[in-house]
Formats: sequence, C-alpha cells, structure tokens
Amino acid sequence: ISWSLICIWILALLIILLITQLRNIFWYSGAFFCSCYIFTLFVLMTGQDTASYSWYQARLFETISTLFLIFVLFCDVFTLYRQSNTKYLNSYQNSIRDPLTRLYNRSYFYDSFTALLPAIASGHPVSVIVSDLDHFKRINDKYGHLQGDKVIQFVSKVLQDSVRQNDIAARIGGEEFALLLVNTSPEVAQSVAERIRLAISQHDTESSLNQLPEPITISMGVFTAIDLSISVEECVRRADEAMYRAKSAGRNRVVVWE
Ligand code: GH3
Ligand code: MG
Ligand code: MG
Repeated sequence: ISWSLICIWILALLIILLITQLRNIFWYSGAFFCSCYIFTLFVLMTGQDTASYSWYQARLFETISTLFLIFVLFCDVFTLYRQSNTKYLNSYQNSIRDPLTRLYNRSYFYDSFTALLPAIASGHPVSVIVSDLDHFKRINDKYGHLQGDKVIQFVSKVLQDSVRQNDIAARIGGEEFALLLVNTSPEVAQSVAERIRLAISQHDTESSLNQLPEPITISMGVFTAIDLSISVEECVRRADEAMYRAKSAGRNRVVVWE
C-alpha cells in the first residue's frame, strides 16, 4: 500500500512539474505538498524500529505541507479578489465619468438628481446650474479641436474645484456642463455661479499654463428645486432656459430662472 501511495504521489508530482512548469506560487505549493507526502511515506516505511516517533515526524510534514497549501490558496484568493475589485472600481468609474474631463457624465447626473429627491422632499433645496461656453466653436475653428479639448478640460477643472465634495459636477454635452448643488438656496447658487464665471473669465493663456489660447467666458443658468412639484427633467430644462436667457442678454453672465 505504501509503495502504491508513493507511486501515486510521484505521478502527481511529475504531472504538476510537466504540465504547470511551476508557473506560479500555487503550483510550487502543490509540488511541495506532493513532495511532503512522499517524504512522509518514506519516513513511515523506514522507521519501523521507532514506529511512534516516525508517525509524529510524518504527521509534522503532512501538517506543514497542508498549512502551506492553505496559506497559498488564501493568498491566491486574496490577490484575485483585489485584482477583480480594482477592475470593478475602474470600470464603474469609467461608466459614470466622462473620458475627456473625468467629470460625471449625463446619465450619472440625472441618476444623482433623482436620488436627491427625498432630500428636497424633506426641505433641503437642490440647485442646478447649467453652463455653456461662449463662442466655443470659434476656438475650435481658430486653434483646432485638440486645443478646444484643452479648454474644455481646463473649464472642467475650475468647475470641479469650485464645488463641495458631495456636489455633482457633470459634463452633459460637448461644452455644456451642469452642477448639482446639494442643500443650496437660490442666492447661494447664484453666488457660486458668479464666482465660477469670474474665475473662468479672469484666466488668460499664462495663468492657465497654456490650456487657454485666449480668455474665454461662460454663460450660466440657475434653478433651485424647493419641492417635488416639478420633475428632474423640468428642473434641468428651467436651468437651461435661464442659461439661454444669459446668452441672449449678451453672454458671460449668470441668470436665475424666474
Ligand atoms: P454660443 O456662445 O452660442 O454657445 O456659441 P458656441 O460657438 O459655443 O455654440 P455651440 O455651443 O452650439 O457650439 C458648440 C461647439 O462645441 C460645437 C462643437 O464643435 C464643439 N464641441 C462639442 N464637443 C466638443 C469636444 O468634445 N471637443 C471639442 N474640441 N469641441 C467640441
Ligand atoms: Mg457654446
Ligand atoms: Mg453648446
């Protein structure tokens, strides 16, 4: 029986060596496991005079090899979990963010707005600011699309840096952005928009580190939802309408929906 067992373990060891070529630590531990069993059986077969001592020795090797295999399995499972979790987090972020600016995308913006409805219902106003860069087509035509992209990225950075951590800054169109300001009254939302508008218009090529080929301006519309009488789409439509009023009034300004 012992010889048969030794043959089986040697066969298992050879198969592991030949097929896996010890590709990773898991197969090393498998080979180590087989070797320990072969060694254990030898110890048991050759130690007849001191039978009880050999038995303890054999059990020791068995235990060490089993623990080692379990340890490697745990490490493997943990590494796999970490890798797949990182991949999951990356692909989740890619699904909710815009690739050019890393701001949130349009669908995440609407989902977040819908999720904020209970907060509005309990008396916390939510303000929406819709913005559109002024005469942006001219920037593309004059300096090319690549430079146009840099302008969009620069403006996105200013927007992102101007809102709180739990506010949502999203790119909802080519050079159209939307901000969702949690628990923010119309007056505060207007002052936030005014601050952003000024910050953008005051930058030039030098202060933007060549991101802006020339100073640019932005038009912004503000709407604040204070109850649930209107839908999310209607809130955005009203902020958009205010933004178009800012455009018709001469651009580079903030208009609050009334
Ligand atoms: P207005 O002041 O009326 O907004 O004038 P405008 O020229 O900005 O007009 P509009 O908003 O209609 O123009 C949007 C332009 O933005 C058209 C398109 O070429 C450009 N655009 C849209 N998406 C991108 C993008 O991802 N990268 C670049 N470089 N340009 C874009
Ligand atoms: Mg525009
Ligand atoms: Mg536009």
